[in-house]
Amino acid sequence: MPQVIKTRVLIVGGGPVGMTLALDLAWRGIDVIVAETRPANDPPSVKCGQISARSMEVFRRLGVANKLREVGLPADYPNDIVSATSVLGIELSRVLIPARGARGAAAVGPDTTWPTPEHTHRVNQKFFEPVLFAHVREQPRVRILNRTKVVEITQNEQGVTAIAHDLDRGDRISIECTYLVGCDGASSMVRKAIGAKYVGTPVLQHAQSTHIRAPALLNLLPGKRAWLYFSLNPRRCGVTMAVDGRETWNIQNFSYAGEADLTSVDRDWAIRMILGVGPDFHYEVVSKEDWIARRLVAVTQSPGRIGIAAFVLARSGDRRGAAAIIRQLEALPEGSWTRSSGLSIAYLGMSDTAHAVTYMERAARGDGDLFVLFSTLTSADIPRSSRTDAAWRRFNLDPRRR
Ligand SMILES: Cc1cc2nc3c(=O)[nH]c(=O)nc-3n(C[C@H](O)[C@H](O)[C@H](O)COP(=O)(O)OP(=O)(O)OC[C@H]3O[C@@H](n4cnc5c(N)ncnc54)[C@H](O)[C@@H]3O)c2cc1C
Repeated sequence: MPQVIKTRVLIVGGGPVGMTLALDLAWRGIDVIVAETRPANDPPSVKCGQISARSMEVFRRLGVANKLREVGLPADYPNDIVSATSVLGIELSRVLIPARGARGAAAVGPDTTWPTPEHTHRVNQKFFEPVLFAHVREQPRVRILNRTKVVEITQNEQGVTAIAHDLDRGDRISIECTYLVGCDGASSMVRKAIGAKYVGTPVLQHAQSTHIRAPALLNLLPGKRAWLYFSLNPRRCGVTMAVDGRETWNIQNFSYAGEADLTSVDRDWAIRMILGVGPDFHYEVVSKEDWIARRLVAVTQSPGRIGIAAFVLARSGDRRGAAAIIRQLEALPEGSWTRSSGLSIAYLGMSDTAHAVTYMERAARGDGDLFVLFSTLTSADIPRSSRTDAAWRRFNLDPRRR
């Protein structure tokens, strides 16, 4: 007989979305279990490089924003964004963004005038996930089951039963819950289990992503340090991001129009062209995290007691792709589970705040899924207006609250 555990909500997946949802539900007085295959406090390799102001506002409400501010780039490391012929090449333009320790009334930069108490925070996922994990573990209403893989889910009128494997002991665990939320990433087993299908554009672009250790690079930089470098040259364009502000960097080599994928592009050559260094320059590959930019939404008509974090979105790409998704979402029946939430994030992706807010308000009235709406708020960087501010206040995200 498997061990039986009961909870109100089971969250499958303890990445950024699962942990944020667990904190939010606990904040609302709801008991939660998070099942996660990774060991406790096991940071991912380099991934997302910044937390948007909107997400930081959510983390402020959940009491973890200050802890998150303590990790990331060093306090005096400029957050500037540079375009140059290569990282060590000729600088073409620079967006001045103050270091996190240099913010204050006199600071100058594009995000310094935003009406928010929580500006964007440049920190890599490998540094912020352990902070979120520690904060989640402090919550008496949240229990984290690490090294636990959910393999099967069934639901009826009364609730949901998930079967999980304890990956260390080999035991089967039965978790009985009132609701289950799949926050298990882009290839979600929960999504497949409820028959939700992705619609949209499955491939926008390929990216070779390489995390390197290059202790010599910082001292070779021709000008003031920067957080992000866009390398623009006829050999290989790409993006380089400072990870720890000392010796580690993440380099993205994106596929060009006409390149089906990047298998024929030599990784080492591309890295050297993007950095602007010769064959003698020494660097060490820490990890490779190649990825594909997609624009997809998971659509289902009757998820019952099971919800999912339902979007795989890249904000780049042409507007026709977004318009096609909007048409598909609009074709869904009024009041269906994903319609309003999906339309709100789709319009956000097109920076159409007025339409986005309309659909967010509809989702907030129950015409849509609030969990999805929540992940919308945590993931999108949204242009501000008086209407968006009004929507934020509805979600306790009042920018004037300090
Ligand atoms: C190189 C790179 C750069 C990126 N840059 C950015 C960026 O700049 N900005 C940005 O917003 N995003 C960026 N992203 C994307 C970002 O990393 C993801 O959006 C984010 O990780 C999604 O969080 P999540 O919690 O939904 O899913 P994940 O982080 O994928 O977490 C899902 C979790 O579920 C667990 N899991 C899966 N299946 C099961 C199961 N059956 N049972 C139990 N647990 C399970 C996994 O172990 C994992 O911990 C980047 C990604 C990469 C790879």
